[in-house]
Amino acid sequence: MSTALVLDPVFARHPTGAGHPERPERITAIEAALETAGLIARCMEVQPHPVAERWLLSNHSEEYLSRLARACEMGLPYIDSPDSTIGEDSLQVAQLAAGSAVEVVRRVLQGEARNGFAALRPPGHHAEYDCSLGFCLLNNVAIAARYALAEHGLSRIFIFDWDVHHGNGTQHSFESMSEVFYCSMHAHPATLFPGTGFAEERGQGKGEGYTLNLPLLPGTSGEEAERLLVKHVLPAIASYRPELILLSAGFDAHIADPIGNQRFSTETFVQFTKRILEAAEGSAGGRVVSLLEGGYDLPALAECVSAHVTTLVDC
Ligand SMILES: [Zn+2]
Repeated sequence: MSTALVLDPVFARHPTGAGHPERPERITAIEAALETAGLIARCMEVQPHPVAERWLLSNHSEEYLSRLARACEMGLPYIDSPDSTIGEDSLQVAQLAAGSAVEVVRRVLQGEARNGFAALRPPGHHAEYDCSLGFCLLNNVAIAARYALAEHGLSRIFIFDWDVHHGNGTQHSFESMSEVFYCSMHAHPATLFPGTGFAEERGQGKGEGYTLNLPLLPGTSGEEAERLLVKHVLPAIASYRPELILLSAGFDAHIADPIGNQRFSTETFVQFTKRILEAAEGSAGGRVVSLLEGGYDLPALAECVSAHVTTLVDC
């Protein structure tokens, strides 16, 4: 079985304006790197998929979705905050991103692919139930998890978010339930956007103990981060016994990233990927679906994604 891959120029059709780090060229750079590495031919290519409205509504309010649609139609420059820029096609592209996340999860859960990666724009993990935030319009990973719960009857999904920023939207989606375990390793909230993700945030009500935040001090090395992964993340996966692991794969903790504040190397992400794939072999039967979040230095992003997908393919 192979690795499902979503990689399509349509995800460059979400304009963000001059000087914006989350830019269309991220997709072009990834495509060139994967092509050069011969990876596209080694994967099962998955065409971008529109998302069914029921899955959008499973994680976002009707009011927000129609507000977003109106803002794109009216040609407004951004929604909710100036860094969440939009163009007239942005909602359509965001819906394709969410739908593609759902489709890769479907392929993996139905045994058509062993694992998968989707190079999606716009990213998703900051998007809240009723608003956009931090370059994110629709929460791709949360929508994919809702789909896996409702359509496939899963009851234990583990989301590991290694983007340098805390995935506030994903945490808030699932912090009151035990069916989705949200684990995030990110820059300490006192040092970087969005200012959430303290270690004390551990979930609430039925979800208490199913949120795990691992804040990193600025300048943390990849080796130190890997030690934390082994000490905290792998045991959490082992005891939760997930049926599926979803990755919010941001590459902005790389030392070259212009907006992150960590010192990860490309090899750090390879080691993270290997460890997670090994952890998924048990209860999850190796089922890992990885969705692109951040990563803003184009050469580092392209190199990291190439190394990440190589590791998914070779496992
Ligand atoms: Zn990020």
